[in-house]
Amino acid sequence: MEEGGMSKEAVESLLQEKKLEDLSYERILSSMCTYPHEIAVYAHAMFLESNLGDSGLFPGTKEMENKVIRMIGALLGKEDAAGYISTGGTESNIQAIRAIRNRKRKEGLRDMNIIVPESAHFSFDKIADLLSIEVRKASLDEELRMDVNSVERLIDDQTIGVVGIAGTTEFGQIDPIKELSEIIMERDLFLFVDAAFGGFVIPFLEERYEFDFSLEGVRAISVDPHKMGMSTIPAGCLLFSEESYLEELAVPTPYLTTKEQCSLTGTRSGASAAATYAVLKYLGREGLKRIVGECMRLTRILVSGAKQIGISPVIEPVMNVVALRFPETEVGRVTRALGERRWRVSVTRKPKALRLVIMPHVDEETIHLFLEELEDIVYVV
Ligand code: PLP
Repeated sequence: MEEGGMSKEAVESLLQEKKLEDLSYERILSSMCTYPHEIAVYAHAMFLESNLGDSGLFPGTKEMENKVIRMIGALLGKEDAAGYISTGGTESNIQAIRAIRNRKRKEGLRDMNIIVPESAHFSFDKIADLLSIEVRKASLDEELRMDVNSVERLIDDQTIGVVGIAGTTEFGQIDPIKELSEIIMERDLFLFVDAAFGGFVIPFLEERYEFDFSLEGVRAISVDPHKMGMSTIPAGCLLFSEESYLEELAVPTPYLTTKEQCSLTGTRSGASAAATYAVLKYLGREGLKRIVGECMRLTRILVSGAKQIGISPVIEPVMNVVALRFPETEVGRVTRALGERRWRVSVTRKPKALRLVIMPHVDEETIHLFLEELEDIVYVV
């Protein structure tokens, strides 16, 4: 920091310079984030100073958070779900597992484990470290869904919960949540559904999937407004079927306007809550369905175009995530060549494939351009 400050114009020009160094989303096919909706940006700017960590000072913002929880709860089969707006999928995952870990610890259990699919997001590796809990990985079936038999084999007396993913990060696949719900009901375990990506997609797909609180065994769901919910970063949402799970996270907050806090972070963004409230109110279910419908239409165009040039998807896409199959030695070359043409794509772990996420910032022209360039790259000798 300099001794004297700079002029506003000078700072603005510094910011412009840095903004130009960032990529714009147009050619980004690797991210689960997108441009937030303009109404979300408007609301975010309006509530920038609002701190939900001391929500007694911001009752208006707190009311918006409560309404968001009710709206998302209703979307996911439980209008009276208890929860809060987190910083995203990672915090929601940590907190869901922490809640059940705390409950079981009170019951005297030690050396606990949870079971997640091999396809789980890497935040579960952070959970193993942070919560001192063993994270066991169940294998996947041929369609890259969590294999229920593998889950049953991994469960033992120290198991406290099972995690199913509704919209896997790499393949956009949905685990068999109904079967998982049945397994955990027989054993009094906790079933957490990580729908960070899929929560704002699955309810709007033409095909119906059972994955939410309408299944009796589902005790918690995570869904991120800052992914397909068109809200601003950071906005995650953690929901529990019962208030008592949220209470497992409570710590007393002596000098604040509230008696206790359940979130992982202390100070937390009221702006994100306002942005999420605004965009959900503005779009309604119809608006969200329109967005998902368009992403799915473009996904189908992408997949059929890829097939026409001889590239098949690893699985038929369930949602707007596509993994294109290449010989293992080719994936790196194709990814680098696309990168040289300013496309940003990513590579899945197992099987290795070219991963593309068709977010709302992608349009039809972009898909055609991408396919043309992909064909060029693939058939270069
Ligand atoms: N869970 C799933 C299924 C995800 O796809 C992601 C991120 O892509 C996360 C959790 C983590 O979310 P975040 O990056 O918002 O912490």
